[in-house]
Amino acid sequence: MGTRHADVDAVLIGAGQAGLSTAYWLRRYGVPFVQLDGDKAAGGAWQHRWRSLRLDLAHGVADLPGLPMEPSEADLARPAREVVSEYYARYEREFALGVVRPVRVAAVRDAADGATGAGDRTGPLVVEAADGRSWTARAVVNATGTWTRPFVPYYPGADVFRGRQLHVARYQDAEEFRGLRVLVVGGGNSAAQLLAEIAPVAAGTVWATRRPPVFRESEFTQEAGREAVAEVERRVRAGLPPESVVSVTGVAMTPAVRAAREAGAMVRRPMFSRFTEGGAVWDADGSFEAVDAVLWATGFRAALDHLAPLGLRGAGGGIRMRDWVRVADEPRVMLVGYGPSASTIGASRAGRLAARAVRGLPPLLPPAAS
Ligand code: FAD
Repeated sequence: MGTRHADVDAVLIGAGQAGLSTAYWLRRYGVPFVQLDGDKAAGGAWQHRWRSLRLDLAHGVADLPGLPMEPSEADLARPAREVVSEYYARYEREFALGVVRPVRVAAVRDAADGATGAGDRTGPLVVEAADGRSWTARAVVNATGTWTRPFVPYYPGADVFRGRQLHVARYQDAEEFRGLRVLVVGGGNSAAQLLAEIAPVAAGTVWATRRPPVFRESEFTQEAGREAVAEVERRVRAGLPPESVVSVTGVAMTPAVRAAREAGAMVRRPMFSRFTEGGAVWDADGSFEAVDAVLWATGFRAALDHLAPLGLRGAGGGIRMRDWVRVADEPRVMLVGYGPSASTIGASRAGRLAARAVRGLPPLLPPAAS
């Protein structure tokens, strides 16, 4: 038997940028909540990113509300995973958020599931953890990010390829590829940055992308950012799966990427057709590349499997949203850090919208007499 916890107004799942911002605003609005997080320590997905990713190479990490990060010059040159995790930990302490961790949420369901009257989406929700604990709430704010759902596309022969296959979610540093022939797959920032750091130590690199990558030579403009966000917002309003906000803004031409391009390491090939035991084949021209390892820089999907019992996904394959954070057909659930708010700046802003939406919901219905 699991442990049943007291009813709260809201359960907030996740303590990355999106979850921490929401917690701040729920507290400000006086909404009682419990915050659960699947990781053992503060830092959200940032604590797991590779060592060489630094703040001065990242797109820019936005401040959380009420406590700016204020990184020093030295911080900019340290691994972002350390600096951002320290910031999040400080934030949790400053606002005494009392994050409960590690708690992996396995399912969120309607408390009336199976009972008469279930399905009107007005009663309490039950949040069930993998370890058997559960919480009941009138609203759930979901801020679970994407890091736990790395995406690897299927290519024929992937199971017969004898080399190593690694998604960027497990990448640590270039040393593990020293002396190897490496195929890097994907056309985004992660692919370009990692190719640039692997190429100098590898025996050779091949870069395969679906579309020719678009390099962004100049500083990222606010207008381009707004357009990218608006496009993702349109998609989720129509119930389509979101594209990544940070991937539609082009590949940043960092000094390392520029140097790699000048050294001839950024020559892109179209996607291959299939794997063999020893490499990849392009059927279109019959070419073959022998490789020892494949690095999949092919992105992530939203970590929403635990919401499946609520049946939120529609025919378009995504979850239909409105007002940035509200699930169109489920007033008790907000998604923060999803779709248009899937960046640190978007997540910071969306936390406030979600907290306001929770505050505006009617109170939890009195529990049925037992
Ligand atoms: P996360 O930081 O992933 O936090 C989610 C939390 O939810 C985690 O702590 C996790 O343990 C928890 N969780 C997940 N599932 C469950 C569950 N079932 N039960 C309980 N807890 C759960 N954005 C920028 O704005 N600037 C950048 O420079 C930038 N760089 C990036 C670099 C990389 C390599 C990647 C992949 C993304 C980058 N992004 C960047 C996008 C970035 O992911 C978001 O901006 C933001 O950090 C995500 O915050 P989040 O709170 O939504 O998710």
